[in-house]
Amino acid sequence: MMHHAAGPVGTGDDDKLHEECGVFGVWDCADAAAVTALGLHALQHRGQEATGIVSSDGTRFHSHRGLGLVGDNFSDPRVMAGLPGGRAVGHNRYATTGETVLRNVQPLYADFEFGGLAVGHNGNLTNATALRRALVRRGCLFQSTTDSEVFIHLIAISLYATVTDRLIDALKQVIGAYSLIALTNEALIGARDPLGVRPLILGRLAGNGGWVLASETCALDIVGADFVRDIEPGEVVVIDDAGVRSIRPFGRPRGRFCVFEYIYFARPDSVMEGAGVYEARKRIGAELGRESHVAADVVVPVPDSGVPAAMGYAAECGVPFELGIIRNHYVGRTFIEPTDHIRNLGVKLKHSANRAMLEGRRVVLVDDSIVRGTTSRKIVEMVRQAGAAEVHMRISSPPTTHSCFYGIDTPERGKLLAARHTVAEMAELIGADSLAFISIDGLYRALKQGGRNAEAPQYCDACFTGDYPIPVPDASHNDNRQLSLLTESR
Ligand code: AMP
Repeated sequence: MMHHAAGPVGTGDDDKLHEECGVFGVWDCADAAAVTALGLHALQHRGQEATGIVSSDGTRFHSHRGLGLVGDNFSDPRVMAGLPGGRAVGHNRYATTGETVLRNVQPLYADFEFGGLAVGHNGNLTNATALRRALVRRGCLFQSTTDSEVFIHLIAISLYATVTDRLIDALKQVIGAYSLIALTNEALIGARDPLGVRPLILGRLAGNGGWVLASETCALDIVGADFVRDIEPGEVVVIDDAGVRSIRPFGRPRGRFCVFEYIYFARPDSVMEGAGVYEARKRIGAELGRESHVAADVVVPVPDSGVPAAMGYAAECGVPFELGIIRNHYVGRTFIEPTDHIRNLGVKLKHSANRAMLEGRRVVLVDDSIVRGTTSRKIVEMVRQAGAAEVHMRISSPPTTHSCFYGIDTPERGKLLAARHTVAEMAELIGADSLAFISIDGLYRALKQGGRNAEAPQYCDACFTGDYPIPVPDASHNDNRQLSLLTESR
């Protein structure tokens, strides 16, 4: 049933469970794999570590997965010729600090008594380790260390008859934040976790009316599809030739969408839960300016993530906006570098000072977040070296004091600068004349009319508040050594 073409295999093992990713699926389209590759390309910012597509011609499934970028894996016509069919699902995997092996690259595929099934997901299951242990005890043989495989085994052992019922049975057992896409011979299925922490949207191809599922609307634009709607928190959609069927196994829970998607993760041209990400970032910047402006000559974004917020800040405060830092686009995100040493170098590789805009000026630098503090420290130093008279750092998120267990790759709590230091200490550590973060209420004011509902916050903001809306893993979750003892070599 399965034709499998493998890309390069990495060394070592990735036993890190959480992954922030991009997913894309299409039903009924002449060149489904090519459309999926385009969609994944638009979602490249959600994951650069590995990518995969599984297509189906209605009978057989075809897969190609590889390490690296979408363009590296799906520009070869021979690869695309090996992915025939009118339906496909694809996945971009986010960089984590561990090494990646091909067996972890999604979508995963398995043959069941009901036929083939390909699954990809974005997010993190907080009970994956416990479920995995129980499944292994029952005799399930795991091939990978990714959470998606937990879904595969839960579906395999489910006593329900249809694949949709088996998938729902699996969803009822997992705890976590996820957006999931699955492809069978009968249907394309999408699901969002009960709180809708991770995004998933439905679109329709302009040409033939085929259906698209994607992490973000920017993936619809590139394939010529129209936005239909967000998949709702806890909703399962089953798409086949009869159309879209919606199932609510969890009722209609109130969502807690990830606020960090607005702050940093999503592409600015995407629309999430009815709000344009670009405009949202500008409003956050304006609110930041209202809360913490200081006398300055110029507002400078830390590119690219700080740009919309800096525009909003500058407009609100009536200070000129200038590109005082230039980004080299031909290096990856500093975050993907595995060691502190390389990470430090990475910032220098990525940014350079535009001296003409900085020399002798009082500079407000705007970035979206401080995680470890590496970027801010380097940028402040660079701006000072370029002759700035004063450097004031403004951050368009509240201090990141807690790790994310729901799919955003954050380091353990001890490595978060804001978990260990006051704002004044952080200002000192990054070498800024002043430092301010937007308040949590200011952030909500920018995003929701009426601001934050303290009793029932509208978003998941655990990274800033420690209010974790989904049970977080116990300490043993981080002990993944039992998961896989195999190290693959090239
Ligand atoms: P750090 O240098 O560790 O303080 O990280 C902060 C920088 O990394 C900011 O410029 C952010 O734009 C960026 N950033 C924040 N969160 C993430 C993330 N989860 N993945 C990649 N980059 C991030």
